[in-house]
Amino acid sequence: MSLLVVGSMAFDSIKSPFGEAEQIVGGSATYFSIAAGYFTPVRLVSVVGRDFPEATIKKLSARGIDTLGLTVASGETFRWKGFYENDLNVAHTVRTNLNVFEEFAPVLPPEWKDTPYLFLGNINPRLQLDVMAQIRKPKIVALDTMNFWIEKSPDLLREAIKKIEILIINEAEVRQLTGELNLVRAARMLMDAGPKRVVIKRGEYGVLHMSGNSIFAAPACPLDTIFDPTGAGDSFAGGFMGYLASKGDKEISEADYRMATVYGSAVASFTVEAFGTQRLESLSSDDIAQRVSLLRSLTEIP
Ligand code: AMP
Repeated sequence: MSLLVVGSMAFDSIKSPFGEAEQIVGGSATYFSIAAGYFTPVRLVSVVGRDFPEATIKKLSARGIDTLGLTVASGETFRWKGFYENDLNVAHTVRTNLNVFEEFAPVLPPEWKDTPYLFLGNINPRLQLDVMAQIRKPKIVALDTMNFWIEKSPDLLREAIKKIEILIINEAEVRQLTGELNLVRAARMLMDAGPKRVVIKRGEYGVLHMSGNSIFAAPACPLDTIFDPTGAGDSFAGGFMGYLASKGDKEISEADYRMATVYGSAVASFTVEAFGTQRLESLSSDDIAQRVSLLRSLTEIP
């Protein structure tokens, strides 16, 4: 079933302990759509400037990602510059240039207003609220955010979080958003404010998925090649939501949510193996299945 994403499309400049890359294509919606596209049809809502390569948009369309909701505006594409030190779980931002996002007001194509699965990727919470207001009765709405928006627009972000089912967020941001250091207590505080589920991304330590009193933990794949963690969170969210959307009309069970968490981790594990979307773009269904088996085997006791 269709899955709509709104989020950033970007030029990223990244430095990690393993190398660096200048002005490569990134952004939350880019990573998310490529990852989710392995499981379900994706509808992309975003904005880029005239400097964004047309070939990249064509490449996304060729993967079956519907770009009808992608605006090409006059001005420059969003840019993010960041670096990682030895702790790859912490991205340090050097510069964020919103550029064409400053003025962007998404208008959904009429035929997209009944999209059942909605992912509000990391972007201004004003845009997340705008998109939610245009969708009619979605089955599941999930949201991701980051420190930039927690600091810049806390009230709008809280308003958006009240309206969603699933919050997908990283460990440091959960603490920042709630002021609570204990992740279990922080997740409960967030669930009291709206979402039924809180999925906490913990980088190389995996994912904690909480709902009510239930906690599920999925490990991350231990890898011998890591270049760049950028986009791992969005790729996780893409695999997670893509898997859920592939269930269609069926009622989603707790087991489905747990499998979605494992599929999200499997897909994200490829993203970190190269800079940008390079590795994520080139997966076969066998590649994904093998990583899922590896993840299962990591916690199996024979
Ligand atoms: P993550 O999956 O959390 O590593 O997200 C990485 C992506 O987030 C990068 O490709 C950036 O372009 C994008 N990004 C960084 N800062 C922001 C921001 N303030 N708003 C939206 N997207 C951002």
